[in-house]
Amino acid sequence: MNRIILIKYGELTTKKSNRKFFINTLYNNIIKKCKDSNVIISKDISRMYIEYESLDEELVIKRIGEVFGIHAYSIAYKTLTDLDSIKSTIKEIIEDLDKDKKYTFKVETKRSYKKFLMNSMECNDEFGSFILKNYKNFKVDVHNPDLTFHVEIRENYSYVYLNEYKGIGGYPVGTLGHAMLMLSGGIDSPVAGYLALKRGIKLDLVYFEAIPHTSLEARNKVIELSKKLSIYGGEMRLIIVPFTKLQENIYKNVSENYSITIMRRMMYRIMEKLTSRFKSLAIINGESVGQVASQTLTSMSVINNVTNIPVIRPVACLDKLEIIDISKKINTYDISILPYEDCCTIFVPRHPVINPVLSECIKMESTFNYEEMIDEILANLNIITITPDMDKNKYDDIL
Ligand code: ATP
Ligand code: MG
Repeated sequence: MNRIILIKYGELTTKKSNRKFFINTLYNNIIKKCKDSNVIISKDISRMYIEYESLDEELVIKRIGEVFGIHAYSIAYKTLTDLDSIKSTIKEIIEDLDKDKKYTFKVETKRSYKKFLMNSMECNDEFGSFILKNYKNFKVDVHNPDLTFHVEIRENYSYVYLNEYKGIGGYPVGTLGHAMLMLSGGIDSPVAGYLALKRGIKLDLVYFEAIPHTSLEARNKVIELSKKLSIYGGEMRLIIVPFTKLQENIYKNVSENYSITIMRRMMYRIMEKLTSRFKSLAIINGESVGQVASQTLTSMSVINNVTNIPVIRPVACLDKLEIIDISKKINTYDISILPYEDCCTIFVPRHPVINPVLSECIKMESTFNYEEMIDEILANLNIITITPDMDKNKYDDIL
């Protein structure tokens, strides 16, 4: 029997004028995702059809579950568009079921090929009668059936399936522009990245590191998190920002209680330059209102003041437990809780300011030449290409 996966787009169908672009992007994303199996994909305005080798079925289904823009999918049986072929497909499906069990059922036909000899209602009757006549253990129940036989009639081929499975939804990655995610080794930022990808935003990742105060293990942790995001976001760049000198100067030159505020203003300044260099439209990060001193609304506004680039904070209004739930679902949690120090967790002040004053920040920043240091940082970036199955060991020697 010829099994295929039939994909329903969902949310992207609301974007009427962009529909073709959305579908083509989804198509390309699925092709890239399934590159390790033998698939043939065809598409039309409402459906995508994936043909595969039967041995690959499990793998292809797993991959489909990792692609944004898929609302639902079914394992369908492909047949020729004529009554006898459709009936014999229904027969084959029934013969795979438990013969000793009683079933209630209904038939739901969707006829997009309008020249077919019967309309949808007539098809429902025809196939329903066929089932009743041939299988004594089947009884009709149109309200709450055990089984629904979905029949989709298209011009050349038709499709019959029983179950529909939920996809991960969202928009196809790449349909809503490009942004840069500030990725630390914590729990929040990978979740923020996942949620941004779900909105169709293509991401590159930025990690601020302060070697020797932070370790190579901390970097490897970020690489491992990046690989998890790349399952959903495809190939992405991880930009490693050498932050040591600037960070040391912050701690040397500003009041201890303002050090985090000013460090984050510096991060935003660097992010703004990176967005322009990498032709990106927004900054994404894992800030969550109230979580720490630098994430009070006053802190956020004083920190945000250095840039006009939109800063999107997908987890801003989630509780930590809600964020943790998502991180477990996307398998980043166990990596995030590994203990290595991040550049935000070293030099933590005893009493970080929760209501920083903008003019104070500007005054303290004027005491050292941070601009020169930012230029030097930008001239010394390390860029790693991330894919889900990359070998991270090959990057151990870049410092
Ligand atoms: P996370 O928020 O990822 O769990 P965290 O809680 O340790 O890590 P915060 O101090 O809350 O990080 O920082 C808020 C956000 O700033 C992070 O979610 C991340 O987006 C960004 N950020 C912090 N440190 C770094 C870093 N070293 N490199 C890149 N981005 C960072
Ligand atoms: Mg956090």
